[in-house]
Amino acid sequence: MNSTQIIHHKYTPPAGFNAPQAPIYKASTVIFESVSAMRQRDWQNKDGYTYGLHGTPTTFTLEAKLASLEGGQHCLLTPSGLASIACVNLALLTHGDEVLIPSNCYGPNLAMAKNELTRYGITHQLYDAMNPADLAAKLSARSKLVWLEAPGSVTMEFPDLVALVRICQERGVMTALDNTWGAGLAFHAFALPTEGKPCGVDITIHALTKYPSGSANLLMGSVITKDAAIFHTIRRCHMHFGWGVAANDVEAVLVGLHTLPLRYAAQDQVARSLASYLQTRCEIAQVLHPALEGGLGHAAWASICANQAAGIFSVIFKPEFTQAQVDRFCESLQLFKLGYSWAGPMSLVVPYQLEAMRPEWPTGVARGALVRLCIGLESVTDLQADLAQALQTLGANAR
Ligand SMILES: *Cc1c(COP(=O)(O)O)cnc(C)c1O
Repeated sequence: MNSTQIIHHKYTPPAGFNAPQAPIYKASTVIFESVSAMRQRDWQNKDGYTYGLHGTPTTFTLEAKLASLEGGQHCLLTPSGLASIACVNLALLTHGDEVLIPSNCYGPNLAMAKNELTRYGITHQLYDAMNPADLAAKLSARSKLVWLEAPGSVTMEFPDLVALVRICQERGVMTALDNTWGAGLAFHAFALPTEGKPCGVDITIHALTKYPSGSANLLMGSVITKDAAIFHTIRRCHMHFGWGVAANDVEAVLVGLHTLPLRYAAQDQVARSLASYLQTRCEIAQVLHPALEGGLGHAAWASICANQAAGIFSVIFKPEFTQAQVDRFCESLQLFKLGYSWAGPMSLVVPYQLEAMRPEWPTGVARGALVRLCIGLESVTDLQADLAQALQTLGANAR
């Protein structure tokens, strides 16, 4: 047998193989039966295959599952959460348009607007997500897209999503929610609970890198819509920019999805327990977690989240602790590792310098050094002991 015979081997396995896990197809080339089939294939709809970049049974399976989880209809995979933000921006915005971004947004979303969108003649404005009137006042005829985040990044304020979406609906402006925190579990982004007219966002994006993967071992994003026309606009752009994902990574996310609700609930429980513990510590001025009584936007969170939250929160140290001391606190932690991202198996810590990230100090947030904690899957007792020992070194340093 030579190389030709090996490559063109006639064996086809019998049909009917069935297993709990979806099959993994790895392909750039897709083989057509005839020239006419090749000519007629349509990459825009998911009723056939044209090329690996445009979808395989494996990517379609993950897309269908994610769309269902979110309560949407259509889903596209992208190489990262940030690529999903880029995909939405580049598909929907054009020269002369304006995009509105919450002042507490995921930082790279704003950096993209500042550094890249402006080069294409697309302007942006920041709005205060905790003040719907501020958004209403900033919308203009040029506003084409409003980004939403619930809660905001790092400071964790939970906005009144219904009020924000209603304002956009009334003005005919599209809404895109970065729903990484909600993970499709905490609330229904396309059908927000409200009396009267149905209210939902037009588009969601997720960093699948976080909860759906759950293992801190890959980068991927999704874009989900309910509306077919918006989806086709985004899919065209997605196709033209060539944003593909690797089948092995898709497989890992498919595996991660099986345990997503269990991990989400477990990390939520531990995060809230540790957040409550830190509230009792004299070193801490404020705990920023929307599910805590007194958390910023707690009422808005309670009204749509059915008592669910992601396992991530921030704390503000009392102002007598210097940044250097708080940095040392972070380095003293043994189980919480210094690192970005979240929702993986290992707990993480990041000291953020809020004054460098925001145009002004956010309303309702105490002055002091901010530390964000992301809860992994370690035992709650061990994590609390780790926080306690690191706080103790801080106390010693303070004296
Ligand atoms: C991590 C994250 C992203 C970006 O995801 P990547 O896959 O790292 O690009 C976007 N939004 C939020 C809220 C995130 O936490």
